[in-house]
Amino acid sequence: MVNLPRPRHSAIAEPWKKPFWWCAPGDRSTFAWIVILHLSVLLAPFVTERPSPALLLTAFGLCALGGLGTTVAFHRALAHGAARLHWSVETPLILAAMLNGSGTPLTWVANHRLHHAVSDTDEDISAPSRGGFWWAHLRWLWQAGQAPTERYCGTLLRPRYQFWARLQEPLLVISFFGPLLISPTAWFWLGPARLLLGLHLQCTINSISHLGDAASAGGSSKNVAWLAPFHFLQGENWHKNHHDDPSDARIGRKPWEIDVGWWTLALFRKFGLATAVQRSRSAN
Ligand SMILES: [Zn+2]
Ligand SMILES: [Zn+2]
Repeated sequence: MVNLPRPRHSAIAEPWKKPFWWCAPGDRSTFAWIVILHLSVLLAPFVTERPSPALLLTAFGLCALGGLGTTVAFHRALAHGAARLHWSVETPLILAAMLNGSGTPLTWVANHRLHHAVSDTDEDISAPSRGGFWWAHLRWLWQAGQAPTERYCGTLLRPRYQFWARLQEPLLVISFFGPLLISPTAWFWLGPARLLLGLHLQCTINSISHLGDAASAGGSSKNVAWLAPFHFLQGENWHKNHHDDPSDARIGRKPWEIDVGWWTLALFRKFGLATAVQRSRSAN
């Protein structure tokens, strides 16, 4: 169980009132990356032929692998301490998440812990109740200001996690341009199209899964069943469950709430690759 510290993280007051192109200090590169991803998709008519089923399957597979890295390693294990992963599975999961454009382990964890600590308040880094849908979906990424890792990452501030920051840019360059080695069509579908899809799928958690009534006792988080396939059944769409008990390694609680992220952790536990796997006291 991770004790979430109280903020204040940022001196930027009501940043959602600024124009969308305004960038928080240090976040111009994030804005540039997101603009490049969107603009590069406009190149489609010039560079791509009809993709083969194998190519599309590979693109979705890479997206799913990146999502698994984010939900199992970044989210459940690192941000919430809901499990301890052996390095042999943690390393490839972090790599998959970073190649999917999820950022570094420490920046992801800091922003996410801040989100939980102050959900639905002016301090919440991505609250749609404050900034609206597009704020929660995308704009906060470059306009909210990053939550400081030294305040929110605690015991994770170790070389084992800090060194990933140095790999961020090289990994994104490889992820974006790498498929060019195969063909322009492969580049388009495995590079920008896959990264753009991965970006928007991840963003639905902050936007669509937080469109509930922020003033209600349970807060704005919602379980959104129709989002399940868009998250490759990895469980993040059961977001209200998660806010109810963030330290539970299992996010899908009911039998029909499929949670491949949990199945993955359960499998890891069976082989000794995940330890200290946390379950809610109310769980069966
Ligand atoms: Zn949330
Ligand atoms: Zn969380």
